[in-house]
Amino acid sequence: MEKEKLNYDVIILGAGPAGCSASIYASRGNLKTAILDINMFGGQPSNYLEIENYPGFEKICGYELMEKFENHADKFGADKFPFVEIQRIKLTSEIKEIETKDKIFTSKAVIIATGAQAKKLNIAGEEEFKGRGVSYCAVCDGAFYKDKIVTVIGGGNSALEEAMYLTKFAKKVYIMHRRDNFRADKLVCSRACKNEKIEFIMNANPLEIQGNNCVEKIIFKDLKTGENKELYTDGVFIYIGYNPNVESLNGQIEQTSDGFIQTDINMQTSVQGVYAAGDVRNTPLRQVITAASDGAIAACSAVKYIELSQLQSVK
Ligand code: NAP
Repeated sequence: MEKEKLNYDVIILGAGPAGCSASIYASRGNLKTAILDINMFGGQPSNYLEIENYPGFEKICGYELMEKFENHADKFGADKFPFVEIQRIKLTSEIKEIETKDKIFTSKAVIIATGAQAKKLNIAGEEEFKGRGVSYCAVCDGAFYKDKIVTVIGGGNSALEEAMYLTKFAKKVYIMHRRDNFRADKLVCSRACKNEKIEFIMNANPLEIQGNNCVEKIIFKDLKTGENKELYTDGVFIYIGYNPNVESLNGQIEQTSDGFIQTDINMQTSVQGVYAAGDVRNTPLRQVITAASDGAIAACSAVKYIELSQLQSVK
């Protein structure tokens, strides 16, 4: 069966804060816009329990904020394609092509706002016990640990915030971190330290997750003594950062050694007409506010690029 062909000025890949913001600016900039996501709209912040540093909202649940982003983007009429899996992307030609299972999208510009996904520890037992005690989402799985013992791995904002969330259910929450100070913001650290259900295991490197049907313990190296130790736990929540979602790009644009997309201040990548925004790009700060800002800049750059190419084709 022949695939349906759809033409746009700009295609936005990813419907998190960067993608939704780009959609608002591109549609208001009069570009025929499509926005695609492999999942439902909202991106990673939809899983955050609370966001309290997005200006204008002193405290808001991540899901609610992202619903507002999506509703706002809807007002300006971009075509939405949730739950699409990209099979092929061609970015290097003047007209870009994005192929899904049943459609071929073409456009003059592409904004990559595909975000990032949870990093794996890559230790023994992690994959085996995924869904049976190993989790990457406290909001999704926390309620299964009522009156149990859980261990959160990591020392950033995610690890500490999610550990605090888990204290609503678990009777004890360990935070295991590989150094003796945290990457998380001071305010988040001081809140976690005050929580009586939380105990810190510092200078500890996780080595293996063990159990029978479900997780029973984690083996770790005490980096101060060099000793291997074991900690009994019913669940292991891994929050050690994120990897960029760039699988389908096949090296067509310049990326850092970690895979994040290189851009200039206009969100322009190494390929003309291709922009990147949000967590997927090489940026010093990955927050909803910075992703939304990137999306706005990327869309305005795309508007200018298309206007200029139209002027040049008239000459
Ligand atoms: P992150 O800030 O990159 O922290 C990752 C943590 O995991 C670090 O403490 C790191 O240790 C540790 N780690 C990394 N690889 C490890 C490994 N192989 N084994 C053991 N530990 C490992 O990641 P994040 O906490 O997910 O946050 C990502 C971004 O989102 C940040 O910019 C953060 O501020 C933001 N965020 C914001 C909010 C909010 O505003 N509400 C909430 C969550 C996240 P080292 O410190 O030793 O490198």
